[in-house]
Amino acid sequence: MDRNTISVIYGKDPFEMATKLMQDCDLAALIGDRNKKIAIKPNLITSTTADHGAVTHPEIVIAIIEYLQSQGFNNIKIIESSWVGDNTKRAFAVNGYNQISARYNVPLVDVKQDSYELVSVEGIKIEISKEALKTDFLINVPVLKGHCQTLMTCALKNMKGILSDRSKRAFHSMGLSKPIAALNKAKKQDFILVDNINGDLDFEEGGTPVYTYRMLAGLDPLLMDCFCANLIGFEPDEIGYIRYAKQMGIGNSDLSKLNVRELNQAICLPSRSTGRARSLERHTLQDSACSACYANLINALARMDENGTLDDAMDSISNGKVCIGQGFRGKGMTGCGVGNCTKGLSINVPGCPPTATAIREKLESL
Ligand code: SF4
Repeated sequence: MDRNTISVIYGKDPFEMATKLMQDCDLAALIGDRNKKIAIKPNLITSTTADHGAVTHPEIVIAIIEYLQSQGFNNIKIIESSWVGDNTKRAFAVNGYNQISARYNVPLVDVKQDSYELVSVEGIKIEISKEALKTDFLINVPVLKGHCQTLMTCALKNMKGILSDRSKRAFHSMGLSKPIAALNKAKKQDFILVDNINGDLDFEEGGTPVYTYRMLAGLDPLLMDCFCANLIGFEPDEIGYIRYAKQMGIGNSDLSKLNVRELNQAICLPSRSTGRARSLERHTLQDSACSACYANLINALARMDENGTLDDAMDSISNGKVCIGQGFRGKGMTGCGVGNCTKGLSINVPGCPPTATAIREKLESL
């Protein structure tokens, strides 16, 4: 796998999806030396389970451990720190990490209990976990989701879990964006497995999961975040820490050079929307829509709602609803549709599935 490639897989079994992605990327070859110290960095921001849309599915972490151990890697730790105000040990317990640790003999590192090294980057002083710094190969397993301050969170921002709580507070006082980019200059991540099964629409603490049933793998956190921004309806430059990461040379941000490898096709599973996502569904007319396609549409509608462009766009299309799904294949009719299945409609956003940004741009142009 090269740094300009992102692999994508769809499915409902996080263990199987993660395993296939690692095999496809040949993660073992990327790591190389079997004696390397490997850290798995999930997102356990709160003591909630993955169905809330905030934390990494633990089956992905199990898949990583089983894959690594089957390949002869045994120097593995799981490192994480929940956000300020929550307890990492409780988050580990709620998500079954104590059993995972015992079963696979993989230590859990609660970064809140670790000692820290004070690192100065881009004029910012950052306290970083010594365990994280001495890791030879860091596998980042973020959840792609919305965020009430930074708009989105994925690979770059998930690294906040290797900070002391004092540095986390300081990051907030500095507006988050620049220090998040600086942190990624101080400690690089080596492999990224994005949990995009059901990340939250708006908030990093979850509560409004949007079921996308997708996972992604890549090597460049900036490229991954630029791509993922598009998936949930943002232009990369709308995200402050992406702008700083570009300035600091954290990685590649040129999506024109991106090679997306889809290992399979989007799947159709029943929508399980809650809260705000459910209220946005009133603007959709779906018939057998694939989950990723539908999730991208909901994300696009959410971004438009936030920007105040939603009502005008819905007023300009027939029925005030966007058509989506395989049931529209071969149908020629008046209306607005999302995805290649609806290409017979008078207004269409092409793609299979189209990104939320592409949907948003088209709808806002009407
Ligand atoms: S365009 Fe059709 S087949 Fe493709 S992801 Fe959307 S609903 Fe599924």
